[in-house]
Amino acid sequence: MANTSYPASYYAASANPAPSRPALQDDVETDVCVIGAGYTGLSSALFLLEHGFKVTIVEAAKVGFGASGRNGGQIVNSYSRDIDVIERSVGPQQARLLGNMAFEGGRIIRERVAKYQIQCDLKDGGVFAALTAKQMGHLESQKRLWERFGHTQLELLDQRRIREVVACEEYVGGMLDMSGGHIHPLNLALGEAAAVESLGGVIYEQSPAVRIERGASPVVHTPQGKVRAKFIIVAGNAYLGNLVPELAAKSMPCGTQVIATEPLGEELAHRLLPQDYCVEDCNYLLDYYRLTGDKRLIFGGGVVYGARDPANIEAIIRPKMLKAFPQLKDVKIDYAWTGNFLLTLSRLPQVGRLGDNVYYSQGCSGHGVTYTHLAGKVLAEALRGQAERFDAFADLPHYPFPGGQLLRTPFAAMGAWYYGLRDKLGF
Ligand SMILES: Cc1cc2nc3c(=O)[nH]c(=O)nc-3n(C[C@H](O)[C@H](O)[C@H](O)COP(=O)(O)OP(=O)(O)OC[C@H]3O[C@@H](n4cnc5c(N)ncnc54)[C@H](O)[C@@H]3O)c2cc1C
Repeated sequence: MANTSYPASYYAASANPAPSRPALQDDVETDVCVIGAGYTGLSSALFLLEHGFKVTIVEAAKVGFGASGRNGGQIVNSYSRDIDVIERSVGPQQARLLGNMAFEGGRIIRERVAKYQIQCDLKDGGVFAALTAKQMGHLESQKRLWERFGHTQLELLDQRRIREVVACEEYVGGMLDMSGGHIHPLNLALGEAAAVESLGGVIYEQSPAVRIERGASPVVHTPQGKVRAKFIIVAGNAYLGNLVPELAAKSMPCGTQVIATEPLGEELAHRLLPQDYCVEDCNYLLDYYRLTGDKRLIFGGGVVYGARDPANIEAIIRPKMLKAFPQLKDVKIDYAWTGNFLLTLSRLPQVGRLGDNVYYSQGCSGHGVTYTHLAGKVLAEALRGQAERFDAFADLPHYPFPGGQLLRTPFAAMGAWYYGLRDKLGF
């Protein structure tokens, strides 16, 4: 049987108290059945409940068991693909809709935290750090691009300024986004689940959807029960497996790893990141890090294509951390864990509808903390009959990975190796 406990992460060890929810053992009826209690499912459920829908969530493991309870906690706005690339592919009108939404996810998180009083160590400020002059040039053009869509809060940092926000000698400059920031991701998910329940939503844990019976009133089957609904939202992302074969064909689960140091103490933590911003570098295979509420450094990076769990996570990630911060050579690593995100070939999310009443959003390929919160809003709008923003995502073209399910992993790894080499050589 699959392991349905939280991984031994810093987040699980510092989670706010939460109830243990029962498995579904009945036949129930609802307006919307959501499959998966990560941010996509929880955000969809919250927006729907706020508009009077009856919502039931079935979760295979526990709330926040997937990427939403394991991620780096970085509130990074926009998508994993630049808007000008999107514009070239879909044209100016659709690009404008997507560009206008690019910073909305961060706002939704802040609204949720304030409205439902969620304790998740929310901090403002995220930095994109450039390792080369070429990357700095890219940040400059990205700033101009985002400003075209009305996002004017970004500040370029020269070499002197970036040293003031992060004590890493490698960076030549960067860009600060005060609408970025960071959170304790599992506590955000747990807080959102409590908000769902406060509005009358029902969450069943340990209740994997094993079959979807499609039709005018579709039914989600779990091992011991079923949910009949008017609509279904599929929000299982990289943990969904083959429940919906149409979705599995154009996406690939990938693993990524995170470590958390022992508490560094106020003084050392302040020296590393004086303003407590989170940082991600501009490499294709990027490193990202931030401080926790109790002043540990959370450091993530690297990708395992095909989502195998690597044997020794610390051996993979610690050298990356020491490259950025040699001053941490004597610091102990208290936690190391892995999690899966879902990659698409275009690195843009897959959003759509199967038949009339089965909706899905998945595969944002990395920057998912903000996107998934936006996705919940956009899916809820579509269920309420306002599909303009939903269609802007649903009309994005998606292609199967070359080589099909068998060869997609080596092909994607080869592609990443190539881009990793470009990062190393600085071109
Ligand atoms: C280690 C790691 C670090 C990351 N760091 C960042 C970061 O710092 N910033 C950022 O923006 N993004 C980051 N991401 C990406 C981000 O976390 C994800 O994009 C986002 O959390 C996805 O949310 P989700 O709700 O779509 O999926 P998930 O959070 O994976 O949730 C899916 C849920 O569905 C459940 N499920 C699956 N199948 C079924 C089924 N058949 N029946 C019932 N339930 C099912 C799963 O158990 C799971 O709980 C990171 C990802 C990982 C793995």
